[in-house]
Amino acid sequence: MIQNLLQTPIEYLKGVGPNRAEVLKKELNIRSYRDLINFFPNRYIDKTGFYKINQLQQNTSEVQIVGKIVHMKMVEQKRGKRLVADFVDDTGRMELIWFRGHKWIKENLKINTPYVIFGKTSYYNGLFSMPHPEMELVSDYKKNLRTAMQPVYPSTEMLQKKGITNRVIMKLMQEVLQQTGLKFSESLSPALLSEIKLISKAEALFNIHFPKNQELLAKAQFRLKFEELFFIQLQLLRKNMLHKQKIKGFNFEQIGEHFNDFYQNHLPFELTNAQKRVIKEIRSDMGSGAQMNRLLQGDVGSGKTIVALMSMLIALDNNFQACLMAPTEILSIQHYNGLKELCEEIDISIYLLTGSTKTSKRREIHEKLESGEIDILIGTHALLEDKVKFKNLGLAVIDEQHRFGVAQRARLWKKNHIPPHVLVMTATPIPRTLAMSLYGDLDISVIDELPPGRKPIKTVHRFDSNRLKVFAFIREEINKGRQVYVVYPLIQESEKMDYKDLMDGYESIAREFPDFQISIVHGQMKPADKDYEMDRFVRGETQIMVATTVIEVGVNVPNASMMIIESAERFGLSQLHQLRGRVGRGAEQSFCILMTGHKLSNDSKTRLETMTATNDGFEIAEVDLKLRGPGDLMGTQQSGVLNLKIADIVKDNSILQLARNYASEILKEDPNLSRDENQVIKNAYARLVKNKTIWNYIS
Ligand code: ADP
Ligand code: MG
Repeated sequence: MIQNLLQTPIEYLKGVGPNRAEVLKKELNIRSYRDLINFFPNRYIDKTGFYKINQLQQNTSEVQIVGKIVHMKMVEQKRGKRLVADFVDDTGRMELIWFRGHKWIKENLKINTPYVIFGKTSYYNGLFSMPHPEMELVSDYKKNLRTAMQPVYPSTEMLQKKGITNRVIMKLMQEVLQQTGLKFSESLSPALLSEIKLISKAEALFNIHFPKNQELLAKAQFRLKFEELFFIQLQLLRKNMLHKQKIKGFNFEQIGEHFNDFYQNHLPFELTNAQKRVIKEIRSDMGSGAQMNRLLQGDVGSGKTIVALMSMLIALDNNFQACLMAPTEILSIQHYNGLKELCEEIDISIYLLTGSTKTSKRREIHEKLESGEIDILIGTHALLEDKVKFKNLGLAVIDEQHRFGVAQRARLWKKNHIPPHVLVMTATPIPRTLAMSLYGDLDISVIDELPPGRKPIKTVHRFDSNRLKVFAFIREEINKGRQVYVVYPLIQESEKMDYKDLMDGYESIAREFPDFQISIVHGQMKPADKDYEMDRFVRGETQIMVATTVIEVGVNVPNASMMIIESAERFGLSQLHQLRGRVGRGAEQSFCILMTGHKLSNDSKTRLETMTATNDGFEIAEVDLKLRGPGDLMGTQQSGVLNLKIADIVKDNSILQLARNYASEILKEDPNLSRDENQVIKNAYARLVKNKTIWNYIS
């Protein structure tokens, strides 16, 4: 059977053998016939068309031309000789050049005889040339069978070194396709195929390697991309469905005293409509009887904290505990202080647990958690330790999700027999479609509205040479009573150097502003010192905060209205946006100044221009996605999406939508894929899961 044949170890393929098999495994992770067939070209050399010499352009890459050599000569160079041939067609003249193999060429190439040549052209002094062209007599060209579009496969240095060239891979591919024939099992149902007009699996696989023409190549690519995205979406949606069916959640039926009292008497401001909508979504999730698994996206400053608090109050009203986990100590402390203040007049007990909580306090917390005396526990990763046991945890809120891995999310669950509801909050705006494919198993809420009265932050780019003017501006703002952040990059590989930059910067600011108080915070400080310095700034005792990116996440000082970002070209876009979100939190006009040197890469320029042009986190995320691709954007935790074999989550957005719609439609009608017409899909799905070709990147 074809399935067995596809499992055949790659060393048994004619032309492979144990040595090459070893290299293929190591370099390309190709172990079986199936793996080889699923190793797709990343581009094609199009030999379907011919160029005339007068059609050549400086940026044309590989071209095919028919013409004749009219003359050949040797040219002496400092570094050896080259052989140059004048090549003409009826539109013009160009040169063919050889640096090696002169003797053979002179003896074998025919003058004044029509050739098909193929290769890359270069342009110099008004003349096109082609070094080391592939050449074939027109008379032979007409005789030979060929595929017009030649596949070019991804390669590595090691593959080249071991002689596994593109030509070799092509040969192997021909061999494996011949052996397996065109007998691949179809993986999509006939209904789908005809409705979306997809070509068959076998045809697609053949044409992805050896396309007969552009049109068939496009069809093959579309079919395979659709299939890949379809099965991923199918998996995610099924998971979400099963989750809702099977994973019972606590049913928070009542909205009680805590929530109502807070809502009616202690809300410090009117909620935005977006906040109200999101709270409603969360309320209905937690009252549905299934476990909530919701991602809350909201730009920096959109007011996620109050949403978290009110959700936790619902848990309390149903006699459950809640916790709020944040990625850094500073942020946990801020949440703790902030929530304490908000809840001052309602009778609940809130505790803080971090890595630096003293042992005695820690013990007290452990006991009070188990006895149920603690209502809300706030903290860092320390919450995940085994000793931390809740009496009845009903809701876990995780702030700034992108810093926590999926595994950590899951660990919170283990704290109960019935898992608590989970609300994950992130300020990294993820474009919706990307979020869909990354977190297809989560429901998504979005706060897409900032609290009223916020003025957009004015952002400018200044060169280091204008520093004096920037200093003058800092002085002006501080004299108006404002506070200022000065941020330095700290990137791990060069930590020592960055640390020196930071200290130098601190000193020059101290010299420039002897009359102001200055705080400094960086990652190498002891937590207690950090807190002390932060605290002075929060209380307004210091006017300037010199810091590394430790202040990136969540820090809230409304009176700070200005941020200087040093070496701004070294930060990524989403990081710049996060940093900038620290200002613009009060009523005053805020400013962000991006400082750089004069030498800037194109990407850096795009980043700086984007930052000065917009405050919209989603817009910024889209640009970031285009610049960096999804893998970098999300960090390595979610790099599963990078394992896509053919689809590109960014570029193939519309196919993704289509695939998701179809997957969802099919599951709605036939959740277990038990109907006859869905057997093909069910079998393919089972095979994919078994062969682990859909990547289990979500839990
Ligand atoms: P983030 O979403 O970045 O976590 P926060 O929850 O820290 O944002 O809120 C940012 C600031 O906006 C806080 O000072 C908060 O008190 C304030 N805020 C939140 N919601 C509103 C609102 N509806 N009206 C006015 N201010 C609000
Ligand atoms: Mg926050």
